[in-house]
Amino acid sequence: MVAKVFIFVAHTDGKADDTAFELVTAAKRLFPGCAPVALVTGSGLDGVCQEMAAALGEVWKFDQAALAHPNAELLWPLLVKVLPAGAMLLLPHSSLGMDLGPGLSVRLGAAYLPDVVGTEASEGTTLRVIRQEFNGQVSTHLHCDASGGAVITVRSGAFPPEATGSAVGQVSDRSGDAEGLTARRTFVEVIPAEAGDIDITREEVLVAVGRGIGDQENLALAEELALAMGAALCCSRPIVDAKWLAKSRQVGTSGLTVQPKVYLALGISGSFQHLGGIKGSPLLVAINKNPNAPIFQAASVGVVADLLELLPALTEKIHQSR
Ligand SMILES: Cc1cc2nc3c(=O)[nH]c(=O)nc-3n(C[C@H](O)[C@H](O)[C@H](O)COP(=O)(O)OP(=O)(O)OC[C@H]3O[C@@H](n4cnc5c(N)ncnc54)[C@H](O)[C@@H]3O)c2cc1C
Repeated sequence: MVAKVFIFVAHTDGKADDTAFELVTAAKRLFPGCAPVALVTGSGLDGVCQEMAAALGEVWKFDQAALAHPNAELLWPLLVKVLPAGAMLLLPHSSLGMDLGPGLSVRLGAAYLPDVVGTEASEGTTLRVIRQEFNGQVSTHLHCDASGGAVITVRSGAFPPEATGSAVGQVSDRSGDAEGLTARRTFVEVIPAEAGDIDITREEVLVAVGRGIGDQENLALAEELALAMGAALCCSRPIVDAKWLAKSRQVGTSGLTVQPKVYLALGISGSFQHLGGIKGSPLLVAINKNPNAPIFQAASVGVVADLLELLPALTEKIHQSR
């Protein structure tokens, strides 16, 4: 029997987050033949419900003012109330998913599979998923008894959205189930990130610098290359922590999410926190002196080389070719 599968739809400004469609891909890989039901919670949900209904067959809407800002303390009693026994629930591995998933799985008596990055053919209710350990250097392949259902959090970017076709989905208004929810935590405010001099989220070609650049003065090598390529400069978190570049240049889970066509990663190891900020399957070219650096697993093209030797030569070559 095909499992009853649900995906939790994160959304902002009336639009579903990319993660919603990534969860659909993950659900279809984990449970071939399933028809995932989209769970949409919040306030003023018509736009996002219609968007999800056009992609999936069934949407459950929970529209309440109390749910306007995601709060795990409100969501777990709601989900415990509405999910059927044995449900398979996929959440994004975001701060909300990490907050909600563990306690919810205990209350549902369901298995908990966090931070899934891949799947293998599952057998019945024995799920087979892949996670990463030790900063992406080791893959673990898990077999899990999910006969009592499962709560699965899925790493952002691990399952690119696929065409879902067009559905004439049905939106069931189940807002009544979300009445009277209370929590001790209350939402205070959203503080938008400071705007930088350039907006790396809109750039098509990015040159990203990591700790492998070695020294602040070596940044000039990357800047010259970016200039020659007509690219914008961005970076991994250690470069921001060292105050070599502004926070508005940081790519990753605690930085910005970018969707370039080309991403040139210079001396970046490939942590999931960094790769999680790169969306849209760009041409990812990685230059690293360590042939075993995890970034090479994600890269379209990998170059094993010392940056300090390669960058001046590369910049020179680009100038010559113009
Ligand atoms: C809660 C949390 C949130 C985080 N958020 C982010 C985030 O948003 N973005 C982010 O980037 N990180 C984030 N991190 C940090 C993340 O875990 C990694 O530590 C970080 O991404 C590593 O940056 P890096 O690849 O530049 O450095 P390293 O991991 O130190 O890698 C440096 C690489 O450079 C290579 N190298 C060294 N010298 C040379 C050379 N001369 N030539 C070529 N290659 C060379 C090395 O082989 C190595 O692979 C977060 C961490 C936590 C805990």
